[in-house]
Amino acid sequence: MKEIVKIEHLSHRYNIQWAIRDINMEILERGIYGLLGSNGAGKSTAMNILCGVLKPTGGNVFIKGIDARKYPVEAKRHIGFLPQRPPLHADLTVEEYLRHAAGVRLMPAREIPAAVREVMERCGLTHFSKRLIRNLSGGYQQRVGIAQAIIHRPGFIVLDEPTNGLDPNQIMEIRHLIKSIAEEHTVLLSTHILSEIQATCHHIRMIEEGRLVFAGTVEEFDNYIIPSSLVVSMIAPPPLDELRRVPGVVHAEALGGPRFRVKYSGEFPGEISERIIGASVANGWRLTAIDVEKSSLDAIFSTLSREGRSR
Ligand code: ADP
Repeated sequence: MKEIVKIEHLSHRYNIQWAIRDINMEILERGIYGLLGSNGAGKSTAMNILCGVLKPTGGNVFIKGIDARKYPVEAKRHIGFLPQRPPLHADLTVEEYLRHAAGVRLMPAREIPAAVREVMERCGLTHFSKRLIRNLSGGYQQRVGIAQAIIHRPGFIVLDEPTNGLDPNQIMEIRHLIKSIAEEHTVLLSTHILSEIQATCHHIRMIEEGRLVFAGTVEEFDNYIIPSSLVVSMIAPPPLDELRRVPGVVHAEALGGPRFRVKYSGEFPGEISERIIGASVANGWRLTAIDVEKSSLDAIFSTLSREGRSR
């Protein structure tokens, strides 16, 4: 498979603060890539640079082998971008706005009517062609945002947090639309929500603190998700070895202060909690709290860093 995007040593700083640092990444043609990272990790900065909206402090971007710094107009022809705040014109109808978007993308005038019709069809907007954008629901406005990103038939589509702020039904619809678009285009979408990636993407690129910390498939990433863990607080905690001897516990680590992370396997959180409560009563550990831990991005990031995957 051919690469559609190549990023080399990409760095950017706003004033004195580095937002992204020395990111190297390749994206191959076809598939849905998820750019995962906590808020402030640097996702929007990376996407804005990729799409030619922001000039990087350092590094290079190649789109289909075209150097985006030297040939920005040529590179942008291959990119469709839905920024975090979609550039919609509330007072235009859907059709008017998409005609305008096609013009901005330098499409030949004679091709525009057919392209607008086609993209409205693909994005489920045909019924709403004459409706003012301001009168569409959030989900349909997002469809218009996606439509403007694909109207010039670019090979590579970049969607910055495409499901952010939508209700669960709208999220399902937008995911469905993204999957259908990915049949013809390579898609890169960003999110800070792991389940969003798991629902839609084939590949993950994870950024934390401005650095690329993981590049691989969703299956490879699963190895770094802590499957089952509890955070246990105790006033008089035992040595870790003793905690590890509770049946079902596979690992225990100190988190600082009274808190400990306990990983377990193959049981329900309720069962293992009961055993820990029993052991605490029997041994005087003075348990004060047990919380079931979701696999937070922070926890994954710390696992990746510990295992030296962090680059
Ligand atoms: P994400 O999209 O992952 O939430 P961003 O790329 O928006 O992350 O931000 C990365 C870092 O850069 C953050 O610390 C953010 O505060 C900072 N940042 C983003 N945009 C600007 C800006 N225009 N001026 C100054 N700092 C910014």
